[in-house]
Amino acid sequence: MAMSEAAPDVPVCGPAFVTERRLVPWIGTSWKMNKTRTEARQYTEALTRTLNATPVSAAVWLLPPFTALGAVCEAARGSSLRVGAQDMHWADDGPYTGEVSALNIKECGAQLVELGHFERRQAFGETDEVVNKKVCCALAHGLAPLICIGETAMQRDYSVAREVVAYQVKVALHGVDPARLPDITIAYEPGWAIGKDGTEAAPVAVNAMHRLIRDVISSKYGTTISEQVYIVYGGSVTQDNAMSFANQTEVDGLFVGRAALEVDSFAAIIKEFSQARSRSTSSSHRDHGDDVPRRAPQLIRPSPQT
Ligand code: PEP
Repeated sequence: MAMSEAAPDVPVCGPAFVTERRLVPWIGTSWKMNKTRTEARQYTEALTRTLNATPVSAAVWLLPPFTALGAVCEAARGSSLRVGAQDMHWADDGPYTGEVSALNIKECGAQLVELGHFERRQAFGETDEVVNKKVCCALAHGLAPLICIGETAMQRDYSVAREVVAYQVKVALHGVDPARLPDITIAYEPGWAIGKDGTEAAPVAVNAMHRLIRDVISSKYGTTISEQVYIVYGGSVTQDNAMSFANQTEVDGLFVGRAALEVDSFAAIIKEFSQARSRSTSSSHRDHGDDVPRRAPQLIRPSPQT
């Protein structure tokens, strides 16, 4: 969480791109460094077939490795799937061996980019300032940032998780024009819950952390905007525990890792979560006596690319 003395000199991000409003959960996966291009294409085709056969009330995204990005975008074309990259550099071009720019990602046809994943922060020393530069660059190029934040096990044990998460959110959003907030998704992914050694997070505690994130956004941008930002949960989500997050009002969707490496298991999570979410949303408006959900997810996403 180290920061240099001076506030980073980041550009103010440009105007919002064309968006669509959706009242559905936002569920996605990153395959990390898994799947060849052929496997990635086959997975995408199979998922599309499954979702076509049994339509779900959810917006779904896939984040393949860079080498498979173009193939997955192609396979997803015409479907409702969104596709994104797992990272990017903040510069458009230059002497950055091995890096990939927003332009490279856009050229593949992707719409999203994941930024600041826990593994990138831990294994590759990515700082909050770097995440902020990438967020601004992504927005400037019309890519929707999926910003990952979350405390480490040590930060949790020292009881500073809330401070860490609030800090990460504030720095990641530094300099972002309020009009762009609806294009941003935050993924809360505590480091201690991620991966094969991760421990499951309690849904109520996740909900409280999502509320904190929304409050941080609200204190900077106001309640109306904060209510439009999607906040999804990731960390050892499986078919067995996914439903326990569905009735948490601040959990707008799921970010699934290992449990989404197989199409069937990911499709089951999408289907069960979205069904459970529509049940809990309709009972919550009954409770409020409304015709429309009070705090249903206000998903505002870029339209799929043609
Ligand atoms: C992740 O690392 O972002 C993740 C969600 O992984 P997993 O579900 O495998 O814990």
